Amino acid sequence: MKAAPLKPLGFATRAIHLDHDPRQHEGALVPPIYLTSTFAFESTEQGRQRFAGEIPGYIYSRVGNPTVALLESRLADLEGGEAALCTASGMGAITSAIYSLVQAGDEIVADQTLYGCTFGFFHHGLARLGVTVNMVDMTQPDNISAAITPRTRLLFCESPTNPNMRLIDIAAIAAIGRSHSIPLMVDNTYCTPYLQRPIELGAQYVVHSATKYLGGHGDLLAGAVVGPDEDIQRMRFFGIKEMTGAVMSPFDAFLVLRGLKTLALRMDRHCVSAASLAGYLAAHPAVAGVAYPGLPEFPQYELARRQMAQPGGMIALELKGGFEAGRAFMDALNLCTRAVSLGDAETLVQHPASMTHSTYTPEEQAAHGISPGLVRLSVGLEDVADLQADLDQALATV
Ligand SMILES: *Cc1c(COP(=O)(O)O)cnc(C)c1O
Repeated sequence: MKAAPLKPLGFATRAIHLDHDPRQHEGALVPPIYLTSTFAFESTEQGRQRFAGEIPGYIYSRVGNPTVALLESRLADLEGGEAALCTASGMGAITSAIYSLVQAGDEIVADQTLYGCTFGFFHHGLARLGVTVNMVDMTQPDNISAAITPRTRLLFCESPTNPNMRLIDIAAIAAIGRSHSIPLMVDNTYCTPYLQRPIELGAQYVVHSATKYLGGHGDLLAGAVVGPDEDIQRMRFFGIKEMTGAVMSPFDAFLVLRGLKTLALRMDRHCVSAASLAGYLAAHPAVAGVAYPGLPEFPQYELARRQMAQPGGMIALELKGGFEAGRAFMDALNLCTRAVSLGDAETLVQHPASMTHSTYTPEEQAAHGISPGLVRLSVGLEDVADLQADLDQALATV
């Protein structure tokens, strides 16, 4: 179904044009939204053939919808995968994909730093189903070989990790997985395919919270999985259709398609502004340290240059004054918004110790890499001088 002549074209061109031909839609420049739950069959025979998979065609929007399908084909193409499945949220993608790959008795090896709800799903949800997740420090690839057993079915990581900005060497751990015939799934939410393409580095699957940079405007929840066609079919017809029901709505697919048109442009700007603010913060006397993959002093700077096209729009900083400084800094912000989520036009700032991880014990916080003075910044698209001025006046109060 791919429009072959577009293949050699660049990322932004494909994000805007791939697989939409206005001539097939009354000349409509923008792909129409197929707001329909079900699809009419011309005959019982046609219905039978569609259910049997003998002919292509839509049946019911829980298993496929033309607007969602266009987004799926664009995301698969941009990530360099065979196929994609769009979901109602990032957690919908992670759960629908993993339910389709494991069963009771199986094991997963995951990095020790994970998005909070992914950690919850691994730690509580999968445990209830008899699936064991071994969490190790994947920045040291040797830990992975040691954790693999004959029951290991999947490796899982994010890179950079949330919220403490460690990088995982995707090519290295994909190679370890391959040597044991175990696929790697990477949560690529922080980077998007514009900055990092895990499948090209050897991963089998990519998952996304499209709520973040792919949508890009803070107005929806959405997710996606990209991978081999056969596995994506299983995730669609088992993971979503019969297990989670985490279906993306055609309207949300339309919004993500709209977001994709400016993805390259937005990511370029997020990266330039974040690099500028990271340099400013690193030199500030109230700041003990800044974790940003574009800073030469970043401990994994070489790895960042190898696997990321640009260092991204996320910054973690450590305030010298610890927990109280974190709270005072947050409360003093005027322009930057105190909020979770990331990847929006608005700069969003969160203090994990008093917000996302406030219910954790100090020991649990430490185990998750959350120090009391850690602040996470999702650098938005505002004028960077305005952002720096706001950070500057807030830092002056701590
Ligand atoms: C937000 C996020 C998720 C979950 O996505 P939702 O769309 O909120 O369900 C998963 N992974 C990462 C890295 C995220 O930032």
